[in-house]
Amino acid sequence: MLTFEEARRKAIEEVGKRKGPRATAVVSVWDALGLVLAQEVKTDREYPPFDRSTRDGYAVGSKKTAPGAQLRCVGEIKAGDTVRETLSPGTCLQIMTGAAVPAGADAIVMIEQTSREGDLVRFERAAQPGQNIVPRGSEAAAAQTILTPGMRLGYAELALAAQVGAVRLHCAQRPRVAILSTGDEVVLIDETPGEFQIRNSNSVSLAAQVRIAGGEPVVLGNAADRTEDLGEKIERGLKEDALLLSGGVSMGKYDLVENVLKAMGAEFFFDAVAIRPGKPAVFGICQGKPVFGLPGNPVSTMVTFELFVAPAIDLLSGAEARALPFVEARLAEALNEKPGLAHFLPARVEWRARAPEVKALKWQGSGDIAALAKANCFLVVPEDKGSIEAGENVSVLMRKDVV
Ligand code: AMP
Ligand code: MG
Repeated sequence: MLTFEEARRKAIEEVGKRKGPRATAVVSVWDALGLVLAQEVKTDREYPPFDRSTRDGYAVGSKKTAPGAQLRCVGEIKAGDTVRETLSPGTCLQIMTGAAVPAGADAIVMIEQTSREGDLVRFERAAQPGQNIVPRGSEAAAAQTILTPGMRLGYAELALAAQVGAVRLHCAQRPRVAILSTGDEVVLIDETPGEFQIRNSNSVSLAAQVRIAGGEPVVLGNAADRTEDLGEKIERGLKEDALLLSGGVSMGKYDLVENVLKAMGAEFFFDAVAIRPGKPAVFGICQGKPVFGLPGNPVSTMVTFELFVAPAIDLLSGAEARALPFVEARLAEALNEKPGLAHFLPARVEWRARAPEVKALKWQGSGDIAALAKANCFLVVPEDKGSIEAGENVSVLMRKDVV
């Protein structure tokens, strides 16, 4: 049985081998959040385009300042003003944040470090050359590449594109990810379940996780635990870029997913991982498409998505697989879990006095969605370490959607 790191590497390797170039589309910078860039973006000029003041204060020649020195203020420069004159020796100019520093000035003194009577400005201390000035071109040169293909567009990347006027961007199209739940007991979420039936919550969590990972969910509903129904719906799912199944991968008599996939020509790379929840997770390639058979218990489905499916969606999006968002935290209460499996326990991490501290939440096992809805992370108990004392450091896998 593979560890979760091995299984994850395997999924990344196999999906990585097969990914082709993505189709692209031109997208407005307003709509491109989370997409993967498929072009270079270059600056249209130097940044900053002029020597920029970073403070409200006075533009001075630093040599003319000293504790108690006084200079006559001969005018002001606002952000956006055209600045062509040179500062006359022995004078200063009032200047605002974001304004261009005039020639002849080599420092900006914050207004808080001055006092003023009429036109005379008195300085508390000597200014250092260059202080509070961002020199022209120091952030980026003209025609410099600032964004490259494969980068994911977050708010900073989008702002950078907007700054240089790249308002329409060639982006990779989101991979389409089919989602098929399985189980005779599962009804669609807008149906009323019978006494012993349950609503299809997995398709909802999976669709949300696919979106967060950068994919386009294609929800195919539910397949009964019957070979023919599974076969037909899997066939449909294989038309998309990847297929996710929930349920039907354990040892039960009606867990048919693996057999049906096998009959359709799937090659499997793992069908069990040393984790709890999520041990029966399956990954294979079927008719050229990555297929993940995720265990049906809701928390297992969610955990195995994060570990194995999210990096595959990164690759199918034209990006690198992102690392898992682990954080180190101090364990608040001792833990005792069965060794041999890595446990992912619903937990809350809090930043007390800035140092993260984590506590596992009470839960009823991998069907307990309510426990996970109270959690902001999974506490990771490594496979080789069942008991952990309070005060020890543990790894915590952050939930990407609520933190
Ligand atoms: P399975 O992996 O098919 O053995 O299912 C494990 C558990 O997860 C069972 O209690 C199922 O009823 C439950 N389950 C399976 N599919 C879903 C689903 N789509 N939504 C919510 N719970 C599910
Ligand atoms: Mg089932």
